[in-house]
Amino acid sequence: MNQPTIVSCPQCGTQVTWGEQSPHRPFCSKKCQMIDFGEWADEENSIPGAPDMSDSDGWSEEQY
Ligand SMILES: [Zn+2]
Repeated sequence: MNQPTIVSCPQCGTQVTWGEQSPHRPFCSKKCQMIDFGEWADEENSIPGAPDMSDSDGWSEEQY
């Protein structure tokens, strides 16, 4: 009678109960929420014609 609404996590497809127990809905977890956020943030950041940093010798990502 009072069936919970179930949605699929847009990120991993896990069934998520739409309720207070799922604070990150429609995502199953904060992790998936952040992944999704990161994906569209990356798209926003990839501006065509933006200068890359390949010629800056002072910075190396491999230098951990
Ligand atoms: Zn998920």
